[in-house]
Amino acid sequence: MSVKAMQAPKKSSYDVVIVGGAMYGSSVAWFLTDNPDFNGSILVVERDPSYEFASTSHTNSCIRQQFSNEVNIRVSQFGAEFVKNFRQFMGGDERVPKLKLHSFGYMYLADNEEFSKTLQELQKVQQRLGAGTRYMTRDEILRDYPFYNMEDIIGGNHNLVDEGYFDGNTLFDWWKRSARERGVEYLTNEVVSMSRNDNGTKVTSVALKSGETIACGTVVNASGPRAILTSRMIGVEVPVEPRKRYTYIFDAEQPLDRDLPLTIDPTGVHMRTDGQYYLAGCAPNEDFAVDYDDFVQDHSLWEEKVWPTIANRIPQFEAIKLINSWVGHYAYNSLDQNAIIGPHPDVENFFFVNGFSGHGLQQSPAMGRGTAEYITYGEYRTIDLTPFSYSRVVENRKFEEKAVI
Ligand SMILES: Cc1cc2nc3c(=O)[nH]c(=O)nc-3n(C[C@H](O)[C@H](O)[C@H](O)COP(=O)(O)OP(=O)(O)OC[C@H]3O[C@@H](n4cnc5c(N)ncnc54)[C@H](O)[C@@H]3O)c2cc1C
Repeated sequence: MSVKAMQAPKKSSYDVVIVGGAMYGSSVAWFLTDNPDFNGSILVVERDPSYEFASTSHTNSCIRQQFSNEVNIRVSQFGAEFVKNFRQFMGGDERVPKLKLHSFGYMYLADNEEFSKTLQELQKVQQRLGAGTRYMTRDEILRDYPFYNMEDIIGGNHNLVDEGYFDGNTLFDWWKRSARERGVEYLTNEVVSMSRNDNGTKVTSVALKSGETIACGTVVNASGPRAILTSRMIGVEVPVEPRKRYTYIFDAEQPLDRDLPLTIDPTGVHMRTDGQYYLAGCAPNEDFAVDYDDFVQDHSLWEEKVWPTIANRIPQFEAIKLINSWVGHYAYNSLDQNAIIGPHPDVENFFFVNGFSGHGLQQSPAMGRGTAEYITYGEYRTIDLTPFSYSRVVENRKFEEKAVI
């Protein structure tokens, strides 16, 4: 961004400065404005208001209840509640569209006894917490979805309740629009450094690329895959790195006669219904951190991995046509692929909302609400999100979650 395109802030001091204005910056901003006990001023600084390279613009926008950790399940339950009652949560505003959760479910397929056993254990945990997960034998899967090739499959977990696609982009747009209408200032600019008080316990100001310095009460790191660049501004490392994830949209000569659940093939390729088309996605064969600006497509991945996997799992998909594809970055948490949120233990007014890896979109309602609670009250009031706190990074302790995609 050229310095010319940058905007100047209206004030020299804000109660909350949010670094990054995509899904998380907007979620935190909106939930703060929605909290009757928060009356402060909010500045959201966004370096690229086109959001062209943000994770949010590359998402597959799905939600699942199939996690192994109780807190992740509760977070998703609120995500589903928020999506299904979107207009109500947005204050009943008639302009806000109603959102639908297309519950075609995730289908985790097991091709070995060990994974099949894990799925059966997970099903019990999820069922205890109210999720609709069913363990299905290979024959049961074939009865409901006869189009699969199940030769190598023993069974799978599937859930048709509150699990599938939702329009995350509309949610994001309305959070941003409503936050603005409620007085949040969105600024096209880039945060480049931060200053702290003498004993280092508080961020006192942030500096913008255009030269201004802004005093702040609280800073929120909502910088997605760039989270570490922002945390280094206070001398702190956060284990988040950009990792490429590939998405393909294809058309089938003979479409399926029913929805294709979001199927997680044992090869790691996933595929699902996408309106009149289908979507598939995967990680690269060698998965490592890439440059922040590297969005180069690897065409061999489609030819050599994704298409053969799709055609093997669903023989009807022998004849398909690729119609679109894109590369996006996960904000990949290299410690445990789960969220890192809440204040830094020593720099108490610096908040993380980072490291969501592949499930940040669905978590944005619960994580945004929780962060707004913590900023307002100094504690979580609804779901206790402390298991996601930064202290585990310091202690090198993983958040345990077996269901990672
Ligand atoms: C291919 C793919 C598929 C996915 N599928 C799903 C899915 O099905 N379900 C799901 O729940 N999640 C999914 N996710 C994850 C989800 O999309 C992300 O977790 C979520 O969008 C993260 O939002 P964010 O606001 O944290 O990050 P981003 O969207 O990356 O936004 C960060 C913003 O911060 C800005 N920024 C960075 N540094 C600065 C700075 N110094 N100053 C100012 N601005 C700055 C950037 O410009 C950017 O706009 C997927 C992600 C990808 C890539």
